[in-house]
Amino acid sequence: MNTHHNPLLAKWPGPYGLPPFAEIQPGHFGPAMQAAMAEQLEELDAIAGNPEAPNFENTVAALDRSGAWLYRLDALLSNLTASATSPALQAVQRELAAPMAAHDTRVKMHPGVFARLDALHGQRHALGLVPEALRLLERLHLDCVRAGARLGPAAQVRYAAIMEELATLCTQFAQNVLADEAAYQLVLRGDADLAGLPDFVRAAARQAAAERDLDEAAHVITLNRSLIEPFLTYSDRRDLREQAWAAWSRRGEMAGDTDNRALIERILVLRNAQAREHGFDNYADYVLTDSMAGGQQAVRQLLGEVWQRALPAAERERQALIAMMRSHGVEGEPEAWDWRYWSEKVRQARYDIDDAEVKPYFSLERMVEALFDCAQRLFGVRFEARPEVSAYHPDVKVYEMFDADGRSAGLFLQDNFARATKRSGAWMSDFAYQSRNRGVERPIIVNNNNFAKAAPGQPTLLSFDDARTLFHEFGHGLHGLLSNVTYHRLAGTQVLRDFVELPSQLFEHWLGEPEVLRRHARHWQTGEPIPQGLIDRLETARRWGQGYETVSYTGSALVDLEVHALSDPAGPGDVVAFEQAALQRLGMPAAVGMRHRLPHFQHLFAGAGYAAGYYVYLWAEVLDADAFNAFVEAGNPFDPRVAQRLLRHIYAVGDTVDPTAAYTSFRGRLPALEPLLAKRGLLPAEAGLPAP
Ligand SMILES: [Zn+2]
Repeated sequence: MNTHHNPLLAKWPGPYGLPPFAEIQPGHFGPAMQAAMAEQLEELDAIAGNPEAPNFENTVAALDRSGAWLYRLDALLSNLTASATSPALQAVQRELAAPMAAHDTRVKMHPGVFARLDALHGQRHALGLVPEALRLLERLHLDCVRAGARLGPAAQVRYAAIMEELATLCTQFAQNVLADEAAYQLVLRGDADLAGLPDFVRAAARQAAAERDLDEAAHVITLNRSLIEPFLTYSDRRDLREQAWAAWSRRGEMAGDTDNRALIERILVLRNAQAREHGFDNYADYVLTDSMAGGQQAVRQLLGEVWQRALPAAERERQALIAMMRSHGVEGEPEAWDWRYWSEKVRQARYDIDDAEVKPYFSLERMVEALFDCAQRLFGVRFEARPEVSAYHPDVKVYEMFDADGRSAGLFLQDNFARATKRSGAWMSDFAYQSRNRGVERPIIVNNNNFAKAAPGQPTLLSFDDARTLFHEFGHGLHGLLSNVTYHRLAGTQVLRDFVELPSQLFEHWLGEPEVLRRHARHWQTGEPIPQGLIDRLETARRWGQGYETVSYTGSALVDLEVHALSDPAGPGDVVAFEQAALQRLGMPAAVGMRHRLPHFQHLFAGAGYAAGYYVYLWAEVLDADAFNAFVEAGNPFDPRVAQRLLRHIYAVGDTVDPTAAYTSFRGRLPALEPLLAKRGLLPAEAGLPAP
């Protein structure tokens, strides 16, 4: 390790405050983060020791300013371990998980700071604060209370130990899933193995083989969603589909070092203990008191309503699959590894949609242009490529964002391709949030996708679903980039968890707009816009498969809620048995199953962010379906007045406003459920599918 120069110990001099990626070694993190933790504790001691009486500026605003350097380091570490990890970096992450959790507890339980915060909170309405300042005081106070600031001394010691152990277990959980994904490869050789796979799947599988240094005749299917899902959709080889499915569905459940089952049992015991310290008898109640839903009842009502409508829709789809199987002379029932395959056959037959026909119109390059164009037409911002700025991997593209007045307003990093050092899925995160309280900080936002990279010289062609993911993550990205708030704690996507998917899911709607498709969905070779007939077929086909998708998602959300609503301090015991029993109670069709099974359910166990919170996508979908109708009602998907309201009340406000109030300001009323049901084809009037 280079002990002479540690670039993480000093502020980064780069033009955008980007970390000096090329100079960073894993060994730099430990010393730098220890120093940054010490720095924050000094800042807190100074707040607590201030001889002046507590006021907003010397206590609340000062607390919001504290820990700025630690925040940047933590963000850097978590971005690198997610997108460009290594065994050395993973070791650092494991070593730092418990000390970081301990530090967080020390900050939120700091007796001197909390005493001042608590005193101000008690008289908050008499302080003459502007709404954002009042919200900051309430939020920081609640953060501390929910992290144990009000507990007695013995309970605080117990609590800190719980949080430290949880941090270590969750880190291990995520690393185990990554290891199982990286370890598996299905090697295909020759035409018999490749039967049914369209060219784009073969090309991606060939590229994956090349990256793994296999010979030229080999193709590789990995457990990355962008390879495994197309394989399950197109491969004619039922035996290979079954084999790949088994590996995919058993991530985290393979005996050996990467087995997550015991980890989950322990995590659940600890979460119950955590909830009990706060006076709740289960973890779901503890989580949901601090949500837009407000408690289990509202969540169960929404999930239950959608579940009841989705089950018959999935059954209708299953019947269609069976009919299709019979017409191909296949007996028996569709199994889990058959569903996507036969579903695709029905889709092609009924709607005449073939991905191979669609994908040439959705090159990654043009879809990125579409993102930026939509953002500009809605919000006036402009994105400019900064090829001279390098990030942590050569594939990461860097863009600078300029606001409507031409001022530099943020940096956007886009990391689109799958690789073995990156976790699966798609996500947005930040290297820095926007804020004014910490000096003028411009946001540095990153989007990660996991598209299969095309061979050199070939364009990366996306499926319509891939393009939707691109739009989704960019919607989160805009939520971070358009943030216009004073205080760091309230900036960007740091909103209540069941509000956070609104800006992302809402942004997906623009991809489906015919006007956007005609402008941007152009054939990568000829430049011809996508034919209207194909747009129409895409639109009609949109609802096919919604029964399956809704059941697999909603079932996962219900199991999440069940497992976190247990009041037994001993936890569920065998989590796989628990999962099976829960699915049986729900009546989950065996051939559908959960979108994420518990042993690899990263949302729940790689951290606490979505634990008892997987429902948030559906909750936010109620909002986004209803919100987009504001543009439909205006008769223009880029209506400037609606767009201005959207920017002002949703994308720019962070958590400075209560989310229900923010939504109501935008829409003029509370959201309605019907637009969601209509979007998913689950309204009674739409039961039954369009005729073939
Ligand atoms: Zn999202």
